[in-house]
Amino acid sequence: MGLRKKRHDEPEAPRGDAPAVELRGVRRQYGRGGAAVHALRGIDLVLSTGTFTAVMGPSGSGKSTFLQCAAGLDRPTDGTVVLGGTPITGLNENRLTELRRTRLGFVFQAFNLLPSLTVEQNVLLPMRLAGHRPDRRRAAEVLTRVGLGDKAKRRPGELSGGQQQRVAIARALVTDPDVIFADEPTGALDTTTAAEILGLLRSAVDRMGATVVMVTHDPVAAAHADRVLFLADGALVDHLDRATPDVIAARMTALTARAVVRVAA
Ligand code: ADP
Repeated sequence: MGLRKKRHDEPEAPRGDAPAVELRGVRRQYGRGGAAVHALRGIDLVLSTGTFTAVMGPSGSGKSTFLQCAAGLDRPTDGTVVLGGTPITGLNENRLTELRRTRLGFVFQAFNLLPSLTVEQNVLLPMRLAGHRPDRRRAAEVLTRVGLGDKAKRRPGELSGGQQQRVAIARALVTDPDVIFADEPTGALDTTTAAEILGLLRSAVDRMGATVVMVTHDPVAAAHADRVLFLADGALVDHLDRATPDVIAARMTALTARAVVRVAA
């Protein structure tokens, strides 16, 4: 379909017209029969390239399952997931792993850097794992973008938490992925450092055309997104665009109250 987007070493060009993320009728059920848990009850969603989306919801609403299914780490029971124009639902494990390494970026709460590798080696890891020639110039470029141009030879243990998360963001950016999935990326950071990390994700979207999907329970973090999606009981029930932390927090409080009432009933 000619939708494969540019390699990172090619000149800037429009990325084709496929949405970065598309979920159609995505369901995920754990167990069967009366004991079945419906973690996702039919998610329909289209996210354009160059957008920053936050996903919120009460505990148990399906946020992790959503992220896992959208990122090809888990298989939906039903429905399809299309990433950058490629339907991933039918891919075998090897193809899926390759796609994750070359076309997706991940940022986790716990940074997930390899302590024995240098910062540069950590950033180059997705390329190495995908069997591509490590592009040190590209690594230097993304490290400079995240403000760590001078830390390439350090090891993660020599860096602060915020700096380690910057390395993780550089690693997520290095292959110029279709989507970056972030799971509570600021959960382990103090408020000031968290704001810096969120600013960095925001600027990756605004300046580099990245697409970010972030699960968070923090309204301040979610306020950096263009759109906040609210999950409740496995369904998308609401959204807010360009909202302030206060408005997001109020919406979350209302959702959580409803979830508590449901459990108590
Ligand atoms: P959240 O991330 O919003 O807390 P999850 O996606 O972790 O929600 O869970 C959604 C629902 O699916 C919950 O009811 C949870 O107990 C259930 N669930 C998640 N993973 C499993 C699993 N491996 N086996 C059974 N139930 C699960």
